[in-house]
Amino acid sequence: MSFSPLIDELINALRCLPSVGPKSAQRMAFQLLQHRRDNALKLAKTLERALEHVGQCNECRTLTEQTLCEICSNARRNRRLLCVVETPIDALAIETAGSFTGLYFVLHGKLSPIDGIGPSDIGIPQLLQRLEQEPVDELILATNATLEGEATAHYIADRARALSIRCTRIAHGVPLGGELEFVDGGTLSHALSGRTQI
Ligand code: ZN
Repeated sequence: MSFSPLIDELINALRCLPSVGPKSAQRMAFQLLQHRRDNALKLAKTLERALEHVGQCNECRTLTEQTLCEICSNARRNRRLLCVVETPIDALAIETAGSFTGLYFVLHGKLSPIDGIGPSDIGIPQLLQRLEQEPVDELILATNATLEGEATAHYIADRARALSIRCTRIAHGVPLGGELEFVDGGTLSHALSGRTQI
Protein backbone atom coordinates (compact mmCIF):
# COMPACT_ATOMS: atom_id res chain seq x y z
CA MET A 1 0.00 0.00 0.00
CA SER A 2 1.20 3.48 -0.86
CA PHE A 3 0.78 6.55 1.34
CA SER A 4 1.66 10.14 0.51
CA PRO A 5 5.07 10.59 -1.17
CA LEU A 6 6.72 11.98 1.98
CA ILE A 7 5.36 9.21 4.21
CA ASP A 8 6.53 6.60 1.68
CA GLU A 9 9.93 8.25 1.65
CA LEU A 10 10.12 8.13 5.46
CA ILE A 11 9.11 4.45 5.50
CA ASN A 12 11.76 3.63 2.90
CA ALA A 13 14.39 5.62 4.81
CA LEU A 14 13.65 3.73 8.03
CA ARG A 15 14.32 0.45 6.25
CA CYS A 16 18.05 1.22 6.26
CA LEU A 17 18.03 0.18 9.94
CA PRO A 18 19.06 -3.40 10.75
CA SER A 19 16.22 -5.93 11.06
CA VAL A 20 13.59 -3.40 9.95
CA GLY A 21 11.28 -4.78 7.29
CA PRO A 22 8.41 -2.98 5.49
CA LYS A 23 5.88 -3.62 8.29
CA SER A 24 8.13 -2.42 11.09
CA ALA A 25 9.17 0.63 9.06
CA GLN A 26 5.50 1.49 8.52
CA ARG A 27 4.76 1.14 12.24
CA MET A 28 7.74 3.33 13.16
CA ALA A 29 6.84 6.04 10.65
CA PHE A 30 3.26 6.28 11.89
CA GLN A 31 4.31 6.15 15.52
CA LEU A 32 6.65 9.11 14.91
CA LEU A 33 4.17 11.14 12.87
CA GLN A 34 0.99 10.43 14.81
CA HIS A 35 1.81 10.27 18.50
CA ARG A 36 5.40 11.20 19.20
CA ARG A 37 6.12 14.33 17.20
CA ASP A 38 8.32 15.85 19.93
CA ASN A 39 10.40 12.68 20.12
CA ALA A 40 10.54 12.49 16.33
CA LEU A 41 11.98 15.99 16.17
CA LYS A 42 14.51 15.17 18.89
CA LEU A 43 15.49 12.02 16.97
CA ALA A 44 15.92 13.95 13.73
CA LYS A 45 18.04 16.67 15.37
CA THR A 46 20.19 14.21 17.35
CA LEU A 47 20.79 12.11 14.25
CA GLU A 48 21.82 15.18 12.28
CA ARG A 49 24.20 16.33 15.03
CA ALA A 50 25.69 12.85 15.42
CA LEU A 51 26.26 12.58 11.67
CA GLU A 52 27.91 15.97 11.62
CA HIS A 53 30.23 15.45 14.58
CA VAL A 54 30.92 11.74 14.98
CA GLY A 55 33.88 10.48 12.98
CA GLN A 56 36.62 7.93 13.48
CA CYS A 57 39.34 7.95 16.13
CA ASN A 58 42.67 8.79 14.47
CA GLU A 59 44.35 5.77 16.08
CA CYS A 60 41.86 2.94 16.51
CA ARG A 61 39.13 4.03 14.04
CA THR A 62 36.29 3.52 16.49
CA LEU A 63 33.46 6.03 16.33
CA THR A 64 33.99 9.20 18.36
CA GLU A 65 33.50 12.94 18.10
CA GLN A 66 37.06 13.53 19.30
CA THR A 67 40.36 13.20 17.43
CA LEU A 68 41.34 10.41 19.83
CA CYS A 69 38.74 8.25 21.57
CA GLU A 70 38.67 7.88 25.36
CA ILE A 71 40.46 4.52 25.25
CA CYS A 72 43.32 5.67 23.00
CA SER A 73 43.82 8.83 25.05
CA ASN A 74 43.81 6.95 28.37
CA ALA A 75 47.44 6.85 29.62
CA ARG A 76 46.65 3.86 31.86
CA ARG A 77 45.90 1.54 28.92
CA ASN A 78 48.58 -0.93 27.88
CA ARG A 79 49.82 0.31 24.49
CA ARG A 80 51.81 -2.91 23.90
CA LEU A 81 48.60 -4.93 23.59
CA LEU A 82 46.44 -4.40 20.51
CA CYS A 83 43.12 -6.10 19.83
CA VAL A 84 41.73 -6.13 16.28
CA VAL A 85 37.92 -6.22 15.97
CA GLU A 86 35.47 -5.98 13.08
CA THR A 87 33.15 -3.29 14.47
CA PRO A 88 33.01 -0.59 17.18
CA ILE A 89 30.26 -2.69 18.83
CA ASP A 90 32.69 -5.64 19.12
CA ALA A 91 35.19 -3.34 20.87
CA LEU A 92 32.42 -2.19 23.19
CA ALA A 93 31.48 -5.80 23.98
CA ILE A 94 35.08 -6.63 24.97
CA GLU A 95 35.32 -3.36 26.90
CA THR A 96 32.10 -4.16 28.79
CA ALA A 97 33.49 -7.56 29.74
CA GLY A 98 36.02 -5.48 31.65
CA SER A 99 39.23 -7.52 31.67
CA PHE A 100 41.04 -6.13 28.62
CA THR A 101 43.51 -3.33 29.35
CA GLY A 102 45.07 -2.81 25.93
CA LEU A 103 44.01 -0.81 22.88
CA TYR A 104 41.82 -1.66 19.90
CA PHE A 105 41.94 -1.39 16.15
CA VAL A 106 38.56 -1.38 14.38
CA LEU A 107 38.43 -2.75 10.84
CA HIS A 108 34.85 -1.66 10.07
CA GLY A 109 34.35 -4.86 8.13
CA LYS A 110 36.09 -8.06 7.07
CA LEU A 111 37.84 -9.30 3.97
CA SER A 112 35.27 -10.44 1.45
CA PRO A 113 36.54 -10.93 -2.11
CA ILE A 114 32.99 -11.76 -3.31
CA ASP A 115 31.80 -8.31 -2.21
CA GLY A 116 34.98 -6.68 -3.51
CA ILE A 117 36.23 -5.84 -0.01
CA GLY A 118 40.02 -5.99 0.11
CA PRO A 119 42.68 -5.13 2.72
CA SER A 120 42.68 -1.40 2.02
CA ASP A 121 38.89 -1.22 2.48
CA ILE A 122 39.22 -2.37 6.09
CA GLY A 123 42.21 -0.28 7.12
CA ILE A 124 44.87 -3.01 7.04
CA PRO A 125 47.56 -0.71 5.55
CA GLN A 126 46.84 1.73 8.43
CA LEU A 127 47.10 -1.13 10.95
CA LEU A 128 50.44 -2.31 9.55
CA GLN A 129 51.79 1.24 9.48
CA ARG A 130 50.83 1.59 13.13
CA LEU A 131 52.55 -1.71 13.99
CA GLU A 132 55.71 -0.52 12.28
CA GLN A 133 55.69 2.82 14.07
CA GLU A 134 54.68 1.55 17.49
CA PRO A 135 55.41 -2.18 17.85
CA VAL A 136 53.23 -4.22 20.18
CA ASP A 137 54.01 -7.30 22.28
CA GLU A 138 50.85 -9.06 21.21
CA LEU A 139 48.31 -8.56 18.46
CA ILE A 140 45.01 -10.19 19.44
CA LEU A 141 42.82 -11.05 16.47
CA ALA A 142 39.23 -10.89 17.68
CA THR A 143 37.40 -11.01 14.37
CA ASN A 144 34.26 -13.14 14.27
CA ALA A 145 34.36 -16.93 13.98
CA THR A 146 32.88 -16.82 10.46
CA LEU A 147 34.69 -17.91 7.30
CA GLU A 148 35.42 -14.30 6.40
CA GLY A 149 36.37 -13.40 9.98
CA GLU A 150 38.84 -16.32 10.06
CA ALA A 151 40.29 -15.38 6.66
CA THR A 152 40.72 -11.79 7.83
CA ALA A 153 42.48 -12.91 11.03
CA HIS A 154 44.87 -15.16 9.07
CA TYR A 155 45.63 -12.45 6.53
CA ILE A 156 46.49 -9.95 9.27
CA ALA A 157 48.48 -12.54 11.24
CA ASP A 158 50.63 -13.35 8.18
CA ARG A 159 51.43 -9.68 7.63
CA ALA A 160 52.06 -8.96 11.32
CA ARG A 161 54.33 -12.01 11.74
CA ALA A 162 56.46 -10.63 8.92
CA LEU A 163 57.06 -7.70 11.29
CA SER A 164 57.99 -10.22 14.03
CA ILE A 165 54.87 -9.46 16.04
CA ARG A 166 53.29 -12.18 18.17
CA CYS A 167 49.70 -12.83 17.05
CA THR A 168 46.98 -14.61 19.00
CA ARG A 169 43.42 -15.50 18.08
CA ILE A 170 40.62 -15.31 20.64
CA ALA A 171 39.16 -18.71 21.52
CA HIS A 172 35.64 -19.33 20.27
CA GLY A 173 34.00 -22.14 22.06
CA VAL A 174 31.56 -23.53 24.53
CA PRO A 175 29.49 -20.77 26.17
CA LEU A 176 29.58 -20.43 29.96
CA GLY A 177 26.89 -22.67 31.39
CA GLY A 178 26.69 -24.53 28.06
CA GLU A 179 26.46 -28.30 27.91
CA LEU A 180 28.69 -30.09 25.41
CA GLU A 181 25.92 -32.23 23.95
CA PHE A 182 24.08 -29.11 22.73
CA VAL A 183 27.12 -27.42 21.18
CA ASP A 184 27.52 -27.81 17.40
CA GLY A 185 30.55 -29.57 15.89
CA GLY A 186 32.22 -26.43 14.50
CA THR A 187 32.04 -24.68 17.87
CA LEU A 188 33.38 -27.77 19.62
CA SER A 189 36.39 -28.09 17.33
CA HIS A 190 37.10 -24.38 17.87
CA ALA A 191 36.83 -24.87 21.61
CA LEU A 192 39.27 -27.79 21.43
CA SER A 193 41.80 -25.98 19.29
CA GLY A 194 41.60 -22.90 21.53
CA ARG A 195 42.11 -24.83 24.77
CA THR A 196 44.33 -23.35 27.48
CA GLN A 197 46.24 -24.91 30.37
CA ILE A 198 44.46 -25.13 33.73
ZN1 ZN B 1 40.74 5.23 19.62
